[in-house]
Amino acid sequence: MKVYYDKDADLSLIKGKQITIVGYGSQGHAHAQNLKDSGCKVTVGLRKSGASWKKAEAAGLDVREVAEAVSSADIVMILLPDENIPAVYYNDVEPNIKQGATLAFAHGFNVHYNQVVPRDDLDVIMVAPKGPGHTVRSEYLKGGGVPSLIAVHQDRSGKAKDIALSYAAANGGTKGGVIETNFREETETDLFGEQAVLCGGAVELVKMGFETLTEAGYAPEMAYFECLHELKLIVDLMYEGGIANMNYSISNNAEYGEYVTGPEVINEQSREAMRAALKRIQTGEYAKMFIQEGRTNYPSMTARRRLNAAHPIEQVGSQLRDMMPWIKKNKLVDQSKN
Ligand code: NDP
Ligand code: MG
Ligand code: MG
Repeated sequence: MKVYYDKDADLSLIKGKQITIVGYGSQGHAHAQNLKDSGCKVTVGLRKSGASWKKAEAAGLDVREVAEAVSSADIVMILLPDENIPAVYYNDVEPNIKQGATLAFAHGFNVHYNQVVPRDDLDVIMVAPKGPGHTVRSEYLKGGGVPSLIAVHQDRSGKAKDIALSYAAANGGTKGGVIETNFREETETDLFGEQAVLCGGAVELVKMGFETLTEAGYAPEMAYFECLHELKLIVDLMYEGGIANMNYSISNNAEYGEYVTGPEVINEQSREAMRAALKRIQTGEYAKMFIQEGRTNYPSMTARRRLNAAHPIEQVGSQLRDMMPWIKKNKLVDQSKN
């Protein structure tokens, strides 16, 4: 697979253009500041009523209402919560964006599932850093950059890919390395990873382990340490050096137990469930569920959050974390947005 670096991107392409970043949250604040520091002409599009307006102004950026910010732009990058993108696109972006401009996203969901069908004259690209916004900014400030994905959905100018690479370069991405994908692949793999492994899979694995120990009479504090707290140590080892690196660091006993019990717990039935989840993503069935959930004001998410908050693992966890002041308190507010 080809990886693009600084030398493969033409930074001058984007420097001459007017860029509007819509949104100033996790990704928005990072892109706006990185592109400005790379010498681009940046305007931030926001609503006056929101908390972001003052933050963007305080950072010395040119801030305008979305419709106005979009009307003068050659490139419009949409960095809003995915649920809010269709309404903002149809109300403020599409009626104002110039003929032949470039419309950019950092995630493929809305375009891939036809929640946004971009106007036919536009170039439509994706530049998606593979990291949270505060890392996108802090790596840039260190002279580096977060590896990023680029994709082209619509290429009317014949230059859409070059523009995506140029944007990625201005955002620091070509320091870390840029890989080309497409909207479908990015969207479907992202949803699958978070559902089956990262969020859905990991949370249920942790909870079921905790429940199995406590229902057998073991102390919830012990169950918390063994099933949740230590997970970070194991994940860090895999993150830093892969599975072999993790197995090298743990005891022979832990490694042998991994081989005996792992495939019994995550088994062929789990594989079937993963395949079914992937099908639901590929057919658009999952997207439909999520969009419906949002339209009805998140009834099942509200209920699940309430149930999760009442789970003993959360109660005991909160007490144990208070005993470990070196662990940062669970941030209910994303501090990257300050
Ligand atoms: P955030 O939730 O941080 O975006 C919040 C920003 O959107 C705020 O500035 C908020 O302004 C603004 N906003 C929300 N609604 C509106 C509206 N109706 N009109 C104008 N402004 C509005 O988003 P993220 O940065 O997390 O995500 C942005 C995109 O990047 C998404 O497509 C996401 O999938 C993608 N992405 C995110 C990553 C991440 O790490 N978070 C990683 C890679 C991709 P206000 O203060 O007015 O509410
Ligand atoms: Mg995701
Ligand atoms: Mg142990």
